[in-house]
Amino acid sequence: MFGKVLIANRGEIALRILRACRELGIRTVAVHSEADTEAKYVKLADESVCIGPASSAQSYLNIPAIISAAEVTDAEAIHPGYGFLSENADFAERVEKSGFAFIGPRPETIRLMGDKVSAKNAMREAGVPCVPGPDGALPEDPKEIIKIGRAVGYPVIIKAAGGGGGRGMRVVHTEAALLNAVNMTRSEAGAAFNNATVYMEKFLENPRHVEIQVLADSHRNSINLGERDCSMQRRHQKVIEEAPAPGISRRLISRVGDRCAEACRRINYRGAGTFEFLYENGEFYFIEMNTRVQVEHPVTELITGIDIVQAQIRIAAGEKLWIKQRDIELRGHAIECRINAEDPFKFIPSPGKITNWHPPGGPGIRVDSHAYSGYTVPPHYDSMIGKVIAYGDTREQAIRRMWVALSEMMVDGIKTNIPLHQELMLDERFVQGGTSIHYLEEKLAAKSDALKGK
Ligand code: ADP
Repeated sequence: MFGKVLIANRGEIALRILRACRELGIRTVAVHSEADTEAKYVKLADESVCIGPASSAQSYLNIPAIISAAEVTDAEAIHPGYGFLSENADFAERVEKSGFAFIGPRPETIRLMGDKVSAKNAMREAGVPCVPGPDGALPEDPKEIIKIGRAVGYPVIIKAAGGGGGRGMRVVHTEAALLNAVNMTRSEAGAAFNNATVYMEKFLENPRHVEIQVLADSHRNSINLGERDCSMQRRHQKVIEEAPAPGISRRLISRVGDRCAEACRRINYRGAGTFEFLYENGEFYFIEMNTRVQVEHPVTELITGIDIVQAQIRIAAGEKLWIKQRDIELRGHAIECRINAEDPFKFIPSPGKITNWHPPGGPGIRVDSHAYSGYTVPPHYDSMIGKVIAYGDTREQAIRRMWVALSEMMVDGIKTNIPLHQELMLDERFVQGGTSIHYLEEKLAAKSDALKGK
């Protein structure tokens, strides 16, 4: 096992990784920007190194500064968390070339899955069900593009091979709009991702977002840890996640899960990863793979009893998977609410000093947050300040426990989206389960129309 791990991230996930390391008896190095000097997890770490000013381009994305921090502190491995450099193949490569272990997949796997066209091809070959559409990138010839559009059938979606974070996509409803949309997506993708390659898929009108968590070791063993439903989204950002996904048959999920585990073996995947799918009319359609730990990993941890962050570390240290697929048992139901420092209905970020922080507790409640009374939420980063996760024997119990937890939670000094979550825990359609990825936005739009007296 490693003696010392450097945590190349900030916020709640830095604290989460720190906790996993301490439990495993591993010393920690926190790297931080000037804006995060006072953060509690920075003080909790065995060592800390300031790697630059507040701007993430100069700190959390500053590869040379992070590598030097690992060198001066004699760290053996680097955990990238999520966001920032976590899916940057060049970073992973630099980490390994500098003699450290990268707690994540091999650089070439990150690169393969980072290109959505090659990722989709690799998944098709492994028998993972994909969104209908041609295998490769779109050709230059307009006549060919029109032909492909007809074959796929409208509506279609044009997506950038290098896209991410919900950017670089355009829905096309008619043939008349196709070529223009392809050209616009191409030029945007060229500018934003330095890769003008685009491809076409059938646009699914009312899907759910269901994803499969996997673990794979470096000895070609892999397992799936079941699914999460992350359909409650606003602007492609997940707001609530849960496991298992309501109303989908276990047989179907284990069939798709097995294909994902098989895909891991084929691409020589290493570490924790997530296969993201759209789910519509009883079918799964692969959209992309995240080659890192995800924000919503705790809901899977609660229903499987597996510590995913510790698993990442043990796998990076070369351990063989210590569990088999048949040992994975899903028990109960877990729901996660992302707590953001923002206006609950206008969504304007609300950084500043938290004067009072009272997290909830009680049976089945877990709070993953780096916040505390007196903590100042910096304006430079993502607005998420933590996650409340509720576990119950049943979905109903998890929802009730979440509602109780949210109603006892107090965060003063800044605005948070807790009131929105409280409302959602009482929402009839959410309580029923199985809402599509459009549900939250439609609900919010209806609410704002009602407020405007429309
Ligand atoms: P990103 O990497 O930018 O997150 P994804 O491929 O994961 O891109 O897609 C992001 C979101 O875009 C999905 O969650 C879904 O809402 C929408 N989307 C992507 N592909 C399709 C599709 N074929 N049909 C309908 N919606 C899609």
